[in-house]
Formats: sequence, structure tokens, C-alpha cells
Amino acid sequence: MDRARRRKFGQNFLDVPTAIAIAGDLPANEGEAVLEIGPGHGALTEHLLNRGVDLTAVEIDEQCVEVLNGKFGDRKNFHITNIDFLKFDLEGFLNSHEKPWVTGNLPYNVSTAIIAGLMPRLYLTKGFMGMVQLEVAERICAAPCSSNYGSLSVLVSAFADTQILRKIGPEHFTPKPNVDSATMLLTPRADALVAPEGFFDFVRAAFTQKRKTLSNSFGKAYDKKKIQEAIEVLGYPATVRAEELSPEQFLEFYKVIVG
Ligand code: SAM
Repeated sequence: MDRARRRKFGQNFLDVPTAIAIAGDLPANEGEAVLEIGPGHGALTEHLLNRGVDLTAVEIDEQCVEVLNGKFGDRKNFHITNIDFLKFDLEGFLNSHEKPWVTGNLPYNVSTAIIAGLMPRLYLTKGFMGMVQLEVAERICAAPCSSNYGSLSVLVSAFADTQILRKIGPEHFTPKPNVDSATMLLTPRADALVAPEGFFDFVRAAFTQKRKTLSNSFGKAYDKKKIQEAIEVLGYPATVRAEELSPEQFLEFYKVIVG
């Protein structure tokens, strides 16, 4: 039962020295609001609470919530909500707290959905510092023209300055995951893109057949002729590929095609 629960909720708990190091990377000061996603048994939570931050934890598993309430329930700076983070009223929380930090050792099965949902609201925060699978962190933080660059890199870098902070091996967790992990710092870009609705679907479509040139990589999602015309209008070489375009260039390209 416990093993099934751990798999279902992506529960891999951090060892104490690693948790102390990661909590130390969060640049939150005493009294500042922190939103922690997936606190588990409180490995990061404890060290953050000891720093005097005002911490709200969102945890899906009621057994973890019981453990957390037992450990921290009497601390005034600890608040917990037992809910799936994907159903949590993030907008409401961010609007009622003064630019919180967002953190967490994210459950790997929903980490990209969590990051994608957070990005358009990142300007309401001081930033995100937390852990995902190493491969996902590398995709998120990839620069144009690198092999990991894709639609997730465009989505995140449209809103955030990105940096990988630490690589963490499986030996630092119980149970050990099958993959490496990494922490990253995502801070709001002052010049974040104002992305129209449909823009990120367009970017995802552009990477559908990533190895092909841009005029062929969309598959059937967009009119090929229009794409070729836009490539010409913008003066890109006919051989340009999706992986060569920065988020700004993608937006320019989108505007020429969709208007
Ligand atoms: N923070 C703890 C640590 O580092 O030891 C636990 C991290 S564990 C990788 C992920 C945590 O997220 C688990 O406690 C799990 O129950 C919780 N979780 C999984 N899916 C969730 C969701 N959709 N919303 C909120 N919490 C979730």
C-alpha cells in the first residue's frame, strides 16, 4: 500500500544534508511568504520554518499532512492545504500575498504541468527555486540552438531567467528514484513576453518534427505556404529550424502568421 502510494504521488524523500543545502539556496528572508509544493514529511519545510518565513504548504497526500501537522502544527508561520496543487487557487494565493517565493521538490509526474501553470503568473512572485528531474531542468534551462531546446524552454524563458543550481543523484532520496534530479532558480524577467492566447500551442506545433526545417516541422497544424511566406518576410534562411528561434523571434513569427 505504502509503495503504491509513494509511486502514485511521486514520493521520494530527501536526506537531511541535501534538504539543508537546498533550503539554504532559497533567498527568502524572515517574514516573507513562501509557497511550498509537495512538502512530504517536511524535509525542506523544517529548515525554511526555522528561518522564520511565513510558509504555506500544498500537499495532496493526507497521510503526509498528518505527519506535517504533528511536526509543525503549533508553529504560527506554518499553514497547510491538503489539495492537488493543480487544483489549488494559485491566482488567489498570489494576489493575497506580497510576492512570495515558490519552492518544492516537485512530484515528477506533474512537474512540467506545475511549472507551465506557474510561468504566466511568475511576475506575481519573487521566483521559483526547486527540484525537478535533471532531464526536465535541462530542457527548461536550455538556450536556443542547443540539443535540449524545445517548447518547454521557450515557454519558461518567455517569462523567466533560468539557472540550474545543483545536480542531485538518486542516492540522496528514499526510495531512490531511477533518474537524476536538479534544482533550478527561475526568476521573473523584467521584459517578460506578452504572449497572446494560442502562442504556446503554436510553439509546441513548431517543435512537432524538430529535426525538420521550420517550413516542414509543423506537420499539418498550420498552412505551409503561410509559414514559408513568414520565413521570407522575416528574412530567415529557408533552412531555419525551430530550435534556432529565441522566444522573441517565435513571437515575431507568430504575429506575422496569425496577426
Ligand atoms: N518535499 C519532500 C522532500 O523533499 O522530501 C517530498 C518531495 S516528493 C518528491 C513530492 C511530494 O509532492 C510528495 O509529498 C507528494 O505526496 C506530493 N505531491 C504529489 N503530487 C502532488 C500534487 N499534485 N499536489 C501537491 N502535492 C503533490
